[in-house]
Amino acid sequence: MAIKIQHNVSLLPYNTFGIDVKAAFFTSVRTEGEMREALRSGISPVLVIGGGSNILFTRDVAGLVIKNDISDFRIVRQFKNRAWVDAGAGVPWHDLVIRTVEANLGGLENMSLIPGTVGAAPVQNIGAYGVELKDVFVSLKAMETATGRTRTFNLKACAFGYRDSIFKRELNGKYIILSVRVSLTTHRHNLNLSYGDIGKTLASMGVDKPGIRDISQAVCHIRRSKLPDPAEIGNCGSFFKNPETDIAVLNEIRKTHPDVPSYPLSDGRVKVPAGWLIEQCGWKGKKVGNTGSYARQALVLVNYGGATGEEVKNLSDQIILSVQNTFGITLEREVNII
Ligand SMILES: Cc1cc2nc3c(=O)[nH]c(=O)nc-3n(C[C@H](O)[C@H](O)[C@H](O)COP(=O)(O)OP(=O)(O)OC[C@H]3O[C@@H](n4cnc5c(N)ncnc54)[C@H](O)[C@@H]3O)c2cc1C
Repeated sequence: MAIKIQHNVSLLPYNTFGIDVKAAFFTSVRTEGEMREALRSGISPVLVIGGGSNILFTRDVAGLVIKNDISDFRIVRQFKNRAWVDAGAGVPWHDLVIRTVEANLGGLENMSLIPGTVGAAPVQNIGAYGVELKDVFVSLKAMETATGRTRTFNLKACAFGYRDSIFKRELNGKYIILSVRVSLTTHRHNLNLSYGDIGKTLASMGVDKPGIRDISQAVCHIRRSKLPDPAEIGNCGSFFKNPETDIAVLNEIRKTHPDVPSYPLSDGRVKVPAGWLIEQCGWKGKKVGNTGSYARQALVLVNYGGATGEEVKNLSDQIILSVQNTFGITLEREVNII
């Protein structure tokens, strides 16, 4: 079926920050063939979006916005204790989690309720509660924007890092992810209970021998209690990455803030929670015009209604400057600014 390309379309329903900008051209695609057809339209530049839950639009978008709705789901191969699952890029991430948990396939449960689509998950190597996509990733299929040719990327080729991959760097905008393959356990699941409040929440749920379904429910419970629902307050989750820094910088901070939290990294450096740094600088819960830092989690910037992307970006610039001046640490944005 031929795709329909619309002109001058509001992107308000397509981004969780609730920013009202327009796309010069807009289409949605449901198959690989339709994606190729969209690219053949020759309209450029091309911006592919999924759920719009990690994008801050600061102006109207020239060129063609393609909403990826490719939504197949298949269990492709079973091994002794593992199964491979292929999911189309347009499948909502949490639907994939639920479908695999219901099929008693383990590995995604700690990443329950992360908004967005399967196709965007490799872009920033999504992660939550001690598990990242790379831990279960096998490969992905992507289409080169310039040629329409497809290519398979294995784990190494994706160059995953903390909220990072080759698709955010060298190949930014050059490939459109069509599907993702993950490897999940069929029994003897590797349960990861140590992170955050999972153990405590399971105990409060009266679960003493948890399975993957219990963990998924506990994670959903914790996330609902801590994070703002984009349907009620516009946001993109964590706006900044947790900075990784040298121990010398941490020791300097300890002189004035002995209680600074930190997590050791394998390379001898440390990770400091960005939310803590932002809170210490007095931003937590602070409202600036129509935007602000969320009262229950300083790391989340929110749109209280009617904010422009420029307003949110300006607030993030002010926060970066104030953390830099107070602690000598430069925060990096996690959200993609368009
Ligand atoms: C309340 C809330 C909580 C969140 N919690 C977490 C969390 O715990 N962990 C976490 O990692 N993230 C979290 N996020 C961020 C977000 O959910 C993820 O980054 C998610 O993967 C974004 O998916 P999306 O489909 O909405 O991507 P979009 O916002 O549509 O796109 C994000 C980027 O990926 C590109 N892109 C999208 N689809 C494709 C594709 N098919 N091929 C190539 N490029 C593509 C876009 O061009 C853009 O640059 C949270 C967001 C919110 C709103």
